[in-house]
Amino acid sequence: MILRKQFLQHVGQTSPSPMLIEVARAEGSFFYTPEGKRYFDLVAGVSVSNVGHGNSEVIAAVQKQAADYMHIMVYGEMVERPQVEYARRIAELLPGALDCVYFVSSGAEAVEVALKLAKRYTGRTELISMRRAYHGSTHGAMSMMGAPEGEEWKAAFRPLLPDTRAIEFNSFDDLRYITERTAGVLCEVVQGEAGIRLPNPEWLHALRERCSEVGALLIFDEIQTGMGRTGEMFASTKYGVTPDVVCLAKAFGGGMPLGGVAANSKILDSFTNNPCLGHITTFGGHPVCCAAGLAALNYLINNNIVEQVEAKGELFERLLADHPHVKEIRRSGLLMAVELGSSERLYAMMDMFKEAGIMSDWFLYCDTAFRISPPLTISEGEIEECCTIIRRALDRL
Ligand code: PLP
Repeated sequence: MILRKQFLQHVGQTSPSPMLIEVARAEGSFFYTPEGKRYFDLVAGVSVSNVGHGNSEVIAAVQKQAADYMHIMVYGEMVERPQVEYARRIAELLPGALDCVYFVSSGAEAVEVALKLAKRYTGRTELISMRRAYHGSTHGAMSMMGAPEGEEWKAAFRPLLPDTRAIEFNSFDDLRYITERTAGVLCEVVQGEAGIRLPNPEWLHALRERCSEVGALLIFDEIQTGMGRTGEMFASTKYGVTPDVVCLAKAFGGGMPLGGVAANSKILDSFTNNPCLGHITTFGGHPVCCAAGLAALNYLINNNIVEQVEAKGELFERLLADHPHVKEIRRSGLLMAVELGSSERLYAMMDMFKEAGIMSDWFLYCDTAFRISPPLTISEGEIEECCTIIRRALDRL
């Protein structure tokens, strides 16, 4: 109780109604309160904890790197093994042209870098994003929040970036707004905070073609979809479309704060001259975070975790879809929205979830569906157990 009171008094708050669950420890698909109450983690820190909580290989990598060295110098000056090895592995996994990673500290910073890069590389100013998009909370990222849905959050901070425009996700017609004036088009491959909206693969290809036609950079925000979440290491590979720039964060750091912007080195080189220091970041690519991210990536690969994602997603769907209160399930791998069709029902579910030891939430632009995006390491038995609890809550609606 005392800690909760001090949290409310001394820790900056994001809303008048935080979840207020005190965490004592976390392991695998669960976290626990000091009283020993167990929560099934169906959020994974919003697609962060892909390798499960307390992953022993990530912990060992963090401990080793922290003992070897932590911060030495601002990003970009020193040769640090965890950074180099992680960048090389990511370049190997992404399509060939994306051979270089610029490390930062968060998702929003990765988006800032990508936007600046598009302007710098093309010499143009217009930036295009999608309606109902979420890319982060800094001024630049917020400028790309989908209009008009993002207006509630944006209004108090205007003026934001000039020369931005939001087009409709999956609209072939709206591709005409991408022109020779456009520096970059920023797009989540699967829209997360819109409530898990899947791309029409043909539209993604048409988007790629349109950007190439007019010389605009296509920037994929894979901050939620990256590192295996959709059943492939990157959603761009799943849908077979190669962008010019990929933004990574969340699970990219294996549970530590890390972001990255992957692109061809010719594009990233535009930060280094006339003038140099096009983006500066003290903590970008922190060696402990890179060591954690690399260990998490190796864990995913060595244990064939990503290959199991689709079957686990299907199991969730099979166990929940036939409930009369479930209107629809929108899903890509283990990134899932369970649509209830009403915010009253959703809020009632959240109360029951809290009581029953299920951690879920809703989406920034969709409060009629709840989120299922657990650690990718969740077992079949755990999926069955938590779906039984979810169905029991749905029965009580
Ligand atoms: N992009 C997407 C798709 C996100 O979901 C988020 C965060 O939820 C961000 C960017 C921003 O990342 P961060 O909170 O690390 O700044």
